[in-house]
Amino acid sequence: MKRMEPHSILRPAPALALAAIALLAFAGVATVAIAQTSGVNKANMDTSVSPCQDFYRYTNGKWMDSAVIPPSYTGIGAAREIADKNQDILRQVLEKAAANVATEKDPTQKKVGLFYTALMDSASADKAGAAPIAEELKTIAAIKTPADLRTEFARLAKMGVGAGFGPGGMPFRIGAEPDRDNSAVNIGTISQGGLGLPERDFYFRQDPKSAAIRDAYVTYMTKTLQKTGDDEATAKKNADAILKLETTLADSSMSRVAMRDPHAIFHRTTVKELGALCPAIDWTAYFNEVGITVLASPTATLNVAQPMFMRQVNTLVTSTPIETWRAYLRFHVTRVAAPWLSTDFFMDNFAYSSLLSGQKEPQTRWKRASQVLDFTMGEAVGKAWVAVAFPPESKARVQEMVTNLHAVLNDRIASSPWMSEATKKQAAVKLNAILRKIGYPDTWRDYSAMKIEPGMSGAQMIRSAAAFEVNRRLSQINKPVDRGEWGMTPPTVNAYYNPTVNEIVFPAGILQPPYFDPKADEAFNYGAVGSVIGHETTHGFDDEGRQFDAQGNLKDWWTADDAAKFKDKAQKVVDQYNGYVAVDTLHVNGRLTLGENIADIGGLTIAFHAWQRSLHGKPAPVIDGFTGEQRFFLGYASEWRRKLRPESMRTAALTDPHSPAEWRVNGVVSDMPEFYKAFSCKSGDALVKADGQRPDIW
Ligand SMILES: [Zn+2]
Repeated sequence: MKRMEPHSILRPAPALALAAIALLAFAGVATVAIAQTSGVNKANMDTSVSPCQDFYRYTNGKWMDSAVIPPSYTGIGAAREIADKNQDILRQVLEKAAANVATEKDPTQKKVGLFYTALMDSASADKAGAAPIAEELKTIAAIKTPADLRTEFARLAKMGVGAGFGPGGMPFRIGAEPDRDNSAVNIGTISQGGLGLPERDFYFRQDPKSAAIRDAYVTYMTKTLQKTGDDEATAKKNADAILKLETTLADSSMSRVAMRDPHAIFHRTTVKELGALCPAIDWTAYFNEVGITVLASPTATLNVAQPMFMRQVNTLVTSTPIETWRAYLRFHVTRVAAPWLSTDFFMDNFAYSSLLSGQKEPQTRWKRASQVLDFTMGEAVGKAWVAVAFPPESKARVQEMVTNLHAVLNDRIASSPWMSEATKKQAAVKLNAILRKIGYPDTWRDYSAMKIEPGMSGAQMIRSAAAFEVNRRLSQINKPVDRGEWGMTPPTVNAYYNPTVNEIVFPAGILQPPYFDPKADEAFNYGAVGSVIGHETTHGFDDEGRQFDAQGNLKDWWTADDAAKFKDKAQKVVDQYNGYVAVDTLHVNGRLTLGENIADIGGLTIAFHAWQRSLHGKPAPVIDGFTGEQRFFLGYASEWRRKLRPESMRTAALTDPHSPAEWRVNGVVSDMPEFYKAFSCKSGDALVKADGQRPDIW
């Protein structure tokens, strides 16, 4: 999380390296039929609870009581049900490509077919054991000097090791991102990385569960090191040394909360200055080895996101025995490859990661293979997927909803009781400049440079795909930003706001029932997908997004007085969510989740008023016994129907910038007088706050 991550509605699915952790890979079993009229599924509701006391339970209580998480999932819910349906369609696309591979004329579709076939070939993977990474392990074993180490760091960066697909590297990462001062051009970025546990706090937390996770991590490292050449005693010794090395890296890593300040992770630095910060690495040689020649000169500039971390890398490269570095790199190269090596490697990796997710069984192979194809060739398979799953009428309807929502936000900014005219004017400029992307890209990515050929193993193809993506991204350094690029693939059940482009992006994957049902009532659709559109739009005006201007530059457009008022309001949101329990005794982190909570509250508010506007003064009918206002809120709360394993809830509470589903519902509606009115809630009810207690930002 070194660079400004796009702000999604859900936590993005983890990249391949972490695929087994699959924080969002919770899934639905039986999909409940949605009534085409109101959209409300009464069978899911628990009407013995007052909506004003616990709206989440009122909407989803019966479902929560009866839903069973399948062993190979870490949770279930509405989002997972859509993801499963999307994946079923993707499977048909992939199987067709695999069946036609011999006769296929389109070279990209041929690659899709070959790739899927190779990944599904478990017999060959089992026979090969660790052979697909043998060459890499040999190179690591030959490291003798700090210069060799640098060359290996460069090689791993080129391969994308450490971050799944795409720019990565161990122990630091190298990537490309829009320049904060000139968002039209990409700048190279070096940032912290190199940890095997999900984030820095996992190395320091003293509670028994965190200690057990560290122990399991050491066990996993020990097993992997034994399988790749160490005897038991050496493996144990090396595993302890790796944990110590990573703990030192973690100690110099910024926390997720600290990295939410975009100024704190942007430091324009010349390569010469980077050399002063971390002289143990010859940077000109490093950039040449990675193939980023535009940075291979002392005067070239890049963003060193966490200078303190690079100072620590310097110390560690000079002081840690080379033997420990070799073990560290050997372990991580094996860990990243493990999901597609033989079953024994896969299962060791699964045993460790399931401790973090609670997953009981691995997912079936076709699901894992589909996920890889979606990550690596998502726009090649997505094109065929869209043809089946996303009619043009859906795109037009969503486009219209976005227009309505933005008109409402525009009016609300204009009539805001707390902002000055100067800030209002700038906010409107930013709102009107937001780039909209709906469904799928206008131009599909070109995969002709990706090397996928008959005879390659699945593991080799994955490496080749990762190298393709690294090269694609790193070649963007110092080049204009491609504003047409998508950060999510069409079948993805997610959406995002990207502050440096000032864009909102809704893949076709999330524009599916029950989030968006072309046949369902408007009130329900506005509560469901309308709130998603509102959420992403509000990200441009949350505590982080508001610091970027209409062009995506990190530039303050607020008067000092308005900024101070905003911070006071945001503090109310922090305090509100700090008070909620995530799991056991672990509380929601109000600072970590602040941007998402502001987006949830603002997003639902805007969606509500946009729905009202869509009525053009006519009253909404009562359907299934619910008023339009009630159906709107039921649409929202049913979208967040979700059940997670406790292990996943815990990991999410420590790492996920989104609040737990229960609070995304109850926390948000408690900040909306529109909700109190819809359900005739009264002062004294759990979800009712007095005037002045609510943040009332957007
Ligand atoms: Zn978000």
